[in-house]
Amino acid sequence: MSDMHPELRELYQETIFDHNRSPRNFHEMADADRVAQGHNPLCGDELTVYLRIRDGVVEAASFVGHGCAISKASASLMTEAVIGKTEAEVEALFRDFHAMLTGEEDADRDLGKLEVLAGVKEFPVRVKCATLPWHTLHNALTGSAEKAKTE
Ligand code: ZN
Repeated sequence: MSDMHPELRELYQETIFDHNRSPRNFHEMADADRVAQGHNPLCGDELTVYLRIRDGVVEAASFVGHGCAISKASASLMTEAVIGKTEAEVEALFRDFHAMLTGEEDADRDLGKLEVLAGVKEFPVRVKCATLPWHTLHNALTGSAEKAKTE
């Protein structure tokens, strides 16, 4: 984040605070057809991701759980980002998001609002907090019964 404009960094941090304070799509989903749980033992983040898929498109996404500000904000931003996308688009977004946080450079990548989490890259322990919701979502999509873990 050292090369980031200070005002941009502030805006990014404010967005993360906002999503932590009032997470979007933060509820259980009675009619979900995909559910998966995730756990990050390093930080203590725990969450459950719910998806409703219609004709291969994510019609609704939500989550519940508890954890640090980064994991909660990331889950909140993720649910907003995936609604209306096809399963293939969601998987592509997961790959791009993961690559952004693990330092693989790609100038063509456009993650939109998810880029507010790019600064997390500088804090390796926090990367697991930010990617946990996505690993959990991936498991929900692929129907893996295994609990998503960051280890
Ligand atoms: Zn965390």
